[in-house]
Amino acid sequence: MKRNRKKEKKAKKQRQVKGLLFLCLLLFAISVGALLVLNETRKGLIEECENNLLWEVQLTAREVSEDIENKRVVLETVQEMIVRSYGIGPEAIEALGDSKERYKMSHLGIVDTDYVYYDCDGDIIADTRTESIKKAMDGEYVVSRSVDEASGDGVAFFVPCMDGEEVKGVLVAKTSRETLLDRLSIKPQDGTDLVVDVSGNVILMADDFGNYLEGVSWEEFSKNGESWKAKGKFNEEMQLYGCSVASAMNKFGKDIYFAAANVSAYEDFYVVRITSSDVVEKEIRGSMVRIFLMMGFMAVFMLGVIIYAIIVYARNRREVYYTAYVDQLTGIPSKAKHKMDAQELINAGGKQYAYATFDVDNFKYINEMFGYEYGNQVLIHIAKTMEQFIKEGELCARVSSDNFALLLEDNGTKQELTDRINELFRRITEYREAEEVNASSLSFSCGVYRVEGKMDINTIRANANLARTESKKSVVDEIVFYDENLKTRRVEEKELEYEAEEALVNKEFQVYFQPKYDVESEKIIGAEALVRWDHPVRGMLSPGLFVPVFENNGFITEVDLYVLNQVCELIENWIKSGVPPICISVNLSRVHLYEQDLVARLNEVVKQHNVPPEFIEFELTESAFYEETESLLRIMSEIKAAGFRLSMDDFGSGYSSLNLLRRLPVDVLKLDRVFLEECDEDNNETRGKRIVMHVISMAKDLEMEVLAEGVETQDQKEFLQTARCDMIQGYFYARPMPMKEFELLYKGEKGLKATAHESVVEDNV
Ligand code: C2E
Ligand code: CA
Ligand code: CA
Repeated sequence: MKRNRKKEKKAKKQRQVKGLLFLCLLLFAISVGALLVLNETRKGLIEECENNLLWEVQLTAREVSEDIENKRVVLETVQEMIVRSYGIGPEAIEALGDSKERYKMSHLGIVDTDYVYYDCDGDIIADTRTESIKKAMDGEYVVSRSVDEASGDGVAFFVPCMDGEEVKGVLVAKTSRETLLDRLSIKPQDGTDLVVDVSGNVILMADDFGNYLEGVSWEEFSKNGESWKAKGKFNEEMQLYGCSVASAMNKFGKDIYFAAANVSAYEDFYVVRITSSDVVEKEIRGSMVRIFLMMGFMAVFMLGVIIYAIIVYARNRREVYYTAYVDQLTGIPSKAKHKMDAQELINAGGKQYAYATFDVDNFKYINEMFGYEYGNQVLIHIAKTMEQFIKEGELCARVSSDNFALLLEDNGTKQELTDRINELFRRITEYREAEEVNASSLSFSCGVYRVEGKMDINTIRANANLARTESKKSVVDEIVFYDENLKTRRVEEKELEYEAEEALVNKEFQVYFQPKYDVESEKIIGAEALVRWDHPVRGMLSPGLFVPVFENNGFITEVDLYVLNQVCELIENWIKSGVPPICISVNLSRVHLYEQDLVARLNEVVKQHNVPPEFIEFELTESAFYEETESLLRIMSEIKAAGFRLSMDDFGSGYSSLNLLRRLPVDVLKLDRVFLEECDEDNNETRGKRIVMHVISMAKDLEMEVLAEGVETQDQKEFLQTARCDMIQGYFYARPMPMKEFELLYKGEKGLKATAHESVVEDNV
C-alpha cells in the first residue's frame, strides 16, 4: 500500500514535470511565433513606408514637373511677344520688366546672338557664353540651377527666342529658390525633399534636409555606395520606371530611406524624398506594442485555457481514478486496482505471496436484519481493520459486496499464514465499545492460495475463490488452503451433476429414515426422511456431498419430490396393511421457494397415494426464512392450507429472528445441534441451557412443538426432558436407517410383524 502510494506520488511528480515542460515548450513556441510575426510585420511596415515614400515622391515630381512646364509655357509666350514686338536688344527691356513682375521672376533678361545679356533691370552683361546659354542658342530649352550673389540660389530657365526656324537670342529667366520651394513646401510630416539633376547636383534642397543626413552632404551620401542597400536594384528601377526607393545607412549607423522620381517635364531633374529610420521605427514600435499586447493577451488567454483544461483533466482523472480504482464505500482499493497492483507485485518477483479472499458468512442477513446502513458500517469496519493490518508491500481490497481480498507476503509455514489471517479476523471481531458496529459475532469463509512464482492474477483468484467456496461448506474451518484435491472435488461434483438424472431413473437414490422420539414416552412418534445416493461406483454418498450440488443446479427439487413419493408409498402401504401411520417429515430445499406450482405438485403426489396430508411434515431450513419473506409466507400458508405440517429446521444455526418466528405458521421448531453443544457442560446453570429453556418456552407460547436434533447423550436427553422439549431426534436413539430397518424398528415397537410389502422393499434395496 505504502509502496503504491510512493509510486503514485512519483507518477504524479513525473506528470507535473511533464506538464511544466509542456508549458515551457508552449511559451517558447508562442515567443518564437511572436518574433516571427513581429519580423514579418516589421518587414511589412518597412515596405509600406517605402511605398508611401515612393508614392509621395512621384506626386512631388509631378508637381515640380507641372511647375517647370508652366514656367516654360509662360516664358514661351514672353519670348514670342519680345521677338514679335520688340526685337532682341535693349528695346525689349521695358517689356520684360512687366513680365518679371507678373510671373514672379527674380531675374528676367535676354541674350542676343552676340551673347550680350540685357536684364530687365537695365544691367547689360557682355559675352555671357555659359553652357546653358550656348545650348539654348542651339535651340534647346534648358533649366539649371543658378547661384549668384545678388539673387542667391534659384533655378534658371533658358528659352530660345525663335523667329521661325531661326534662333534670335535666348530668354533668360530665374525664379528664386523660395518660389520653387513652394512646391516642395507641402512637405511630408517626416522627411524632406530635394531636387537633383542627372549628375546628382542639387538643384533645390529643403532647409531641413541636412538634419536627415546628420551633417553629411547629399553628394557625399549619395556617392557613398557601400552604405546603400541594393543600389543596383535602385539604379535599374530608376532606368526602367523613372522612380525607385532604397535605403542606406548614414555614418552613424542609422537607416535612411529615400525615394527618387524623375521629373517628366525636364528629364535631367529628379525629386528625392528622404526620411530617416526613426519614422519607420516609430511606426514599427507602435505596431510592435500593439502586437505584443495582443500576443500577451493571447498568451494569457491560452495559458488560462490550458490551466483550465489541466484542472478539468486532473479532476476527471481523479474522478475516474476514484470510481475505477477506489472502492466507493470503504475507500480501500477496488477490484480493478487490486488486480493490477497484485499482478505487478507478483510479476516483480523476488518475493513469495499468498492470496487470500474471504467473505462474511450470512452477510445478507445482517443487511436484512439490521438494515443496509449498518451492513455498510460493518464493511467499512472490516476494510479499515484490513488496511491497518497489512504490512508495507502487501495489498488489500474490497472485491465485491462482502468479499475482500489480501495479497500477503508468505515467507513461513501454512500455519503461520493461518495464524496471521486468524489474527486479522480476531481484530475485526474484537469488541470495542466505542465503535458503532459490533462485529464480534461475525464469522468468515476464507480461501487461500499460495502463489507459485509468476502467475496470472485471474488464475490465482480463481484458486483462492475455489478454496473459499470450500470453506463455506465446512462449519469448522474458516480458512481453507487451495490444493489439487479441491479441483478434483470440483470435477467430481460436475460428474455428479451429469449423472443425477440417470441416477433418479435408475432409483439410485435411497430414502433413509431417522426416527423421532417422544421425550416422555421415549417412543417413536415420527421420522425424518433423509436421502442417500447409492452410487454404482463411489458407493453410498451422504447428502452433504450432493445436496449442495443439486441446490446449485436446481435438481434438488426432483430429488425432494422423489423422496416425498417414497415416503408416501410407505405410508400408503402402512395404511393399507393396517399399520398405524405416523407423521414423516420431508426436507424441502429453499430452491423450491421459487417454484410457482410447488404446493400443487406436493398435493398431487400425496393424492396419488391417498395419504392424508397430516402425515406429511415439510422441513424448511432456517436460512430459507431470511429472504423472500413474503413469498415464503405465502407458500407456507398454502402448505398449511393444504393440511400438511410444517417445521422450521436447523433453528439456532444462523441469525434467527424471533420476531419472524411469531409470523410463521410452523407447527414444529427443530432446534439445531449447536444448542446442545452449549448445554454439554456439567454446570446445570450454563447460559446455553438457559437459552434453550427460554426458546422452548417461547415456542410453546407460540403454540409450536419443539424437537431437539442431534441428541447423542443421556445427559442431553435428560436435560431436554427437564426443559420440557417435546421430541428428540438423534444418534442417542437411532441413526438414519434404510426404510426396511426403520419399518422393522417401528413395527417392533408396536408389536407388529413385517408385511409382504417389506419383503418387496427388501428385494428392491
Ligand atoms: P438436516 O435436515 O439437518 O438433517 C439432519 C442431519 O443430522 C442428518 O444428516 C442426520 O444424519 C444428522 N444427524 C441426526 N442425528 C444426529 C446426531 O445425533 N449427531 C450428528 N452428528 N448428526 C446427526 P444427513 O442425513 O447427512 O443430512 C444432511 C443434510 O442434508 C440434512 O440436514 C439436510 O439439510 C440435507 N438433506 C438430507 N436429505 C435431504 C433431502 O431429501 N432433501 C433435501 N432438500 N435436503 C436433504
Ligand atoms: Ca431436516
Ligand atoms: Ca436439521
